[in-house]
Amino acid sequence: MPNRPTPQPGILDIAAYVPGKSGASGSKAIKLSANESPLGASPKAIEAFRQAAEHLEIYPEGSSRVLRTALGEVHGIDPDLIVASNGSGDLLHLIAQCYLGQGDEAVMNRYGFSLYPIVTTAAGARIVLVDETDFTADVDALLAAVSERTRIVWLANPNNPTGTYLSDAEVRRLHAGLRPDILLVIDSAYAEYVTAADYSVGQDLVDAAENVVMVRTFSKMGLAAARIGWMYAPEHVVDAVNRIRGPFNVNLPAQMAGAAAARDTEFTARLKAHNAQWREWLTGRLSGNRLRVVPSQANFVLVLFPSETEADAAFEALMAKGLIVRQIGVYGIPQGLRISIGTESAMRAVAEVLKDFQ
Ligand SMILES: *Cc1c(COP(=O)(O)O)cnc(C)c1O
Repeated sequence: MPNRPTPQPGILDIAAYVPGKSGASGSKAIKLSANESPLGASPKAIEAFRQAAEHLEIYPEGSSRVLRTALGEVHGIDPDLIVASNGSGDLLHLIAQCYLGQGDEAVMNRYGFSLYPIVTTAAGARIVLVDETDFTADVDALLAAVSERTRIVWLANPNNPTGTYLSDAEVRRLHAGLRPDILLVIDSAYAEYVTAADYSVGQDLVDAAENVVMVRTFSKMGLAAARIGWMYAPEHVVDAVNRIRGPFNVNLPAQMAGAAAARDTEFTARLKAHNAQWREWLTGRLSGNRLRVVPSQANFVLVLFPSETEADAAFEALMAKGLIVRQIGVYGIPQGLRISIGTESAMRAVAEVLKDFQ
């Protein structure tokens, strides 16, 4: 008998999620390591958050009805098929807990989001990593990796940390190749930033199938601190997740701020336009000669250096100028740096430092 409590099998094999570095508090450092909004939050969301602070003594409405109603209106979907959560990472855990157990497998692309192996292993199941083609999920390879034990396919679209995406047709082809008992989780965390015409957020596929879930977040749109995620899913999935989620899983200021942010489509459009402009600019500035920028549809770019040593040196050179970017060795890409799209001055400063590496 162990002489102290022991976690379930697999828990201690999990390497805890590594967040992007922040500067020392109070420092002038510019954080480009966590894909946060460079334009702050929607002023309407901030005001709603402030007003909610007047009511901190009462429990929030448990189903996040105000938030779901706003999302339903803005996205043209049934609010009863939405579940809100304390950040979308929370929802990924809940989905894993509902649909994965001992002996099960979940499939993901090799450079997919690093939370998927954590939630999969925490639920007692095994993660199956599938090779990509040029840093992009490969539908044929994903389908070939599906076994009798597969219960979930995790797909971030666009993907973090690569920024690459699958077209609507490719996602549909992936879905068409899956057994009906396998849940396809489409994580559209960066949907608001996509400009590609052949992209689809995943909503239509949820409408058309019983085994597709779309997961979204407000974190990349200026509300990372408020922790607001949500999913749109078939009724039976909504029912399962609702049974195990915390009864008051989204706090009141977050519900109110999220509803206001969802309705502030003007702010969302401004963020998207800023991002598209500076994503294109930075990609153009850095590409060529010795650096490669993987084409991105998200609010960051993956920059590939000729070697890990050079990527490390670039990271340190950026740090020395107060520019914090993301090293992605934990993702298996030690020769890459992930750089969030920031303000104009931040982007110009990054380009200036990286000149020496081109
Ligand atoms: C950032 C991110 C999330 C969500 O994070 P939360 O802050 O928990 O909502 C989910 N998926 C991907 C791919 C992300 O990059």
